[in-house]
Amino acid sequence: MSNPIGHQGEAAMGLMKKLSSLFTGSPKDNSFWISVKCGRCGEIIRTRVDLNNDLSAEYGEGEGETTYFCRKVLIGKKGCYVPIEVELRFDAHRNLVEKRVKGGKFMED
Ligand SMILES: [Zn+2]
Repeated sequence: MSNPIGHQGEAAMGLMKKLSSLFTGSPKDNSFWISVKCGRCGEIIRTRVDLNNDLSAEYGEGEGETTYFCRKVLIGKKGCYVPIEVELRFDAHRNLVEKRVKGGKFMED
């Protein structure tokens, strides 16, 4: 015999898990953090890149050649105010393929 109450309970748990993952900022929510170090004062500045909202599409010649681009200008809070320009490029599947920074460097490098 099936147990409909138990099944409903499981479905509710699954939904709760989905909802909580939307708010905790896990890597699956299509955003990630980048950290750059200011080339002048050494301050580490972190910023969130939202793959759904921060990317601009650049359309290629044919189908499937769409790439995405994201540019951010980061300014530290410790007083040197040197803008750090971050440029990110993504392929059609929104995988990061190239990153550049002016005025600082990426922490992972
Ligand atoms: Zn600085």
